[in-house]
Amino acid sequence: MSTETMTSQAFLELEDKYGAHNYHPLPVVLSKGEGIYVWDVDGKRYFDFLSAYSAVNQGHCHPRIINALIEQSRELTLTSRAFYNDQLGVYEKFVTEYFGYDKVLPINTGVEAVETALKLCRKWAYKRKGIEMNDAKIIFASGNFHGRTLAVISASVDPDARKEFGPYMPGIVIIPYNDTNVLREALKDPNVAGFIVEPIQGEAGVYVPDDGYLSECSRLCKENNVLFIADEVQTGIARTGKLLACDHEEVRPDILILGKALSGGVFPVSAVLADDEIMMCIKPGEHGSTFGGNPLACAVAMEALKVVEDENLAQNAQYLGGIFRDRMQSMIEKTDLVTLVRGKGLLNAIVINDDENSKTAWNICLKLRDNGLLAKPTHGNIIRFAPPLVMTEEQLHECCDIIEKTIFEFDN
Ligand code: PLP
Repeated sequence: MSTETMTSQAFLELEDKYGAHNYHPLPVVLSKGEGIYVWDVDGKRYFDFLSAYSAVNQGHCHPRIINALIEQSRELTLTSRAFYNDQLGVYEKFVTEYFGYDKVLPINTGVEAVETALKLCRKWAYKRKGIEMNDAKIIFASGNFHGRTLAVISASVDPDARKEFGPYMPGIVIIPYNDTNVLREALKDPNVAGFIVEPIQGEAGVYVPDDGYLSECSRLCKENNVLFIADEVQTGIARTGKLLACDHEEVRPDILILGKALSGGVFPVSAVLADDEIMMCIKPGEHGSTFGGNPLACAVAMEALKVVEDENLAQNAQYLGGIFRDRMQSMIEKTDLVTLVRGKGLLNAIVINDDENSKTAWNICLKLRDNGLLAKPTHGNIIRFAPPLVMTEEQLHECCDIIEKTIFEFDN
């Protein structure tokens, strides 16, 4: 099928007719990306303010990452873990030194990394902590988003994610987010093996917990011999202005979960990092994936992480994030349509002064699209703003002008 003469509408109709309806995309059909920009099939350019849910922190089609992909794909793409390859060990050394852990377990998508961490935690519970077989519990925070598998949605409180997918996995305790008193109580149960948390709840609407929350959670876990598991799939790799969002509070998770920007958005690469005491609980044959740790992923991930460091993306996100929130704050003072801005680094959201079920945020995103900027509501009345971290200050101001203009147009 030749796509050259196809209209946007024709592409929408194809997806509608032949694809499952498990997403509700904004109507824009993209065919090219470079840095902070994407282009639609008619050649119109947009600022990308979603970055594929923070997978494209390094910018679209970063030349160094694409080059690593091309070079490696000419040599060897997949061996499976039935054999050794000349990239995996090199990557494992690189990534463990980069994040400061003894070992890595390489896998593909974010949710697979979360599943891996949960399995690892359960193994540790039985082998090290001495919990009776099948009694281990893991604490989750309400409002979490850790992906879409059955185990993970068993811990979700979002009806859309859960309903009609039961029966659910046992061994899950759900407590409020950003509440260390409830965690302190929950940790008194000797069968608790782990506490998994997003340092900022991204999908829920960019909820930033109180200062000191993560460090207190980590301390309480340590005190109770419970593993502190950080899901940094969205917040990690420079997005919030530090390499990891946990770094803002100098917290070192016992198990660290990474995904998305680990490959610069080139294809799915995720990882679980931990020290030997935990990671060595898993033995050959107990966990794995055909594609996990493939040579192509290793080459791409190494280059993606080098780009983050070489281009000072964490520092840039920290600096630009401050400017962005200042600009949004002064906009809020001139409109009743937006009630607040929150976030860290370049993971931010504005809250529309409307109820969760209204269409206002969606309609604002349509107008933003018309004005050349792509963003998406997270939950009803919240719009997340997460551009690639390779943006300049001048470009950010241009984007803030577009957002301001759109909101003011909408207000009138
Ligand atoms: N964990 C967090 C915090 C996420 O934000 C996401 C995706 O948005 C996931 C896990 C799941 O990642 P994936 O969609 O790659 O499975």
